[in-house]
Amino acid sequence: MNMAANLLDHDLDGLAAFCEQLGEKRFRATQLFRWIHQKGASDFSQMSDLAKSLREKLAGKAEIRPLPILTEQASNDGTIKWLFDVGAGDAVEAVFIPEDDRGTLCVSSQAGCAVGCRFCSTGHQGFSRNLTTGEILAQLWYAEHHLRQRLKLAPGERAITNVVMMGMGEPLQNYSALVPALRVMLDDHGYGLSRRRVTVSTSGVVPMMDRLMADCPVALAVSLHAPNDVLRDELVPLNRKYPIAELLDACRRYLTAAPRDFITFEYCMLDGVNDSEAQARELVALLRAKVSCKLNLIPFNPFPASGLKCSPRAQVQAFAKVLQDAGIVTTVRKTRGDDIDAACGQLAGEVQDRTNVQQRLTRQPIRIHKPGTSRQETR
Ligand code: SF4
Repeated sequence: MNMAANLLDHDLDGLAAFCEQLGEKRFRATQLFRWIHQKGASDFSQMSDLAKSLREKLAGKAEIRPLPILTEQASNDGTIKWLFDVGAGDAVEAVFIPEDDRGTLCVSSQAGCAVGCRFCSTGHQGFSRNLTTGEILAQLWYAEHHLRQRLKLAPGERAITNVVMMGMGEPLQNYSALVPALRVMLDDHGYGLSRRRVTVSTSGVVPMMDRLMADCPVALAVSLHAPNDVLRDELVPLNRKYPIAELLDACRRYLTAAPRDFITFEYCMLDGVNDSEAQARELVALLRAKVSCKLNLIPFNPFPASGLKCSPRAQVQAFAKVLQDAGIVTTVRKTRGDDIDAACGQLAGEVQDRTNVQQRLTRQPIRIHKPGTSRQETR
């Protein structure tokens, strides 16, 4: 068994505590941190400004542990998807999405996911375990330093300018590993990303939204996907625990500390399920003047087990128009990397399901709220 400490598990304070145990001062931890995250070093002998005695101490007790790469797929549009081995038959995916003015990395937080959203490929796979901080950061560490070489970037130029915690998993159900990873992303001695360029996406774990606001407020995206509780109970089962009214209250609280003055609501467009103009109007009534937000409509990427279809393009446009006419900023997400199954909701990795989510996710028809019907009446 490998007993060496994985230095990717620590934010700067954690690394300083580790160095203190070795009898080293904080500035040594800062040097080490910069070598790891800014320069991508994994070999202590490369770290030329560290004292030789410290390098020797580290060599016996610590390592920078990358995740083995199982596959890499590159899309025609420049999107790259990596499948990382996290052991015991589990693998997680990260996706790099290049655009003219930015490079975004979509990062996984769990092997699988226990939330079990009906339209999500990860959700259908079930849940195995939380990733460690080191496993979350290893995706960014590898992608950043690999891409700098691959794209032949000039010294000091960054490949990844934005991180979205929208890969496999519900990040707020892995809170204790997530927060140190976010701190490394934000740290000027680490990746130096601004809070506005790091986004946590949640299906609505209300108590953890409050904690994130207090501990590490970054940009927030909320998976909404329905204009009422009856339908959202079906699509996002966590809604039964934290219904829409509580979720929106948490969003309003979050905005008091958020780096952006709006919440992004993600809304996956499902043919005949949540895409009617009446539902768009219901959404307007739900959101307008209640929470400062932007709507991001996501064309559904079908996969056979879901039994669902993507809304026709014209329906997506008609839905968007209702929202836009009501003054809600609404965008339709460009689908990227769908030729390599790297688009939203398509990340699947490999997961040893330990929670029977797969069995719970039956393909029963989805109940659609009829105006005038209460949540109880529909049940
Ligand atoms: S959409 Fe997010 S929260 Fe829902 S099952 Fe997929 S990964 Fe989990």
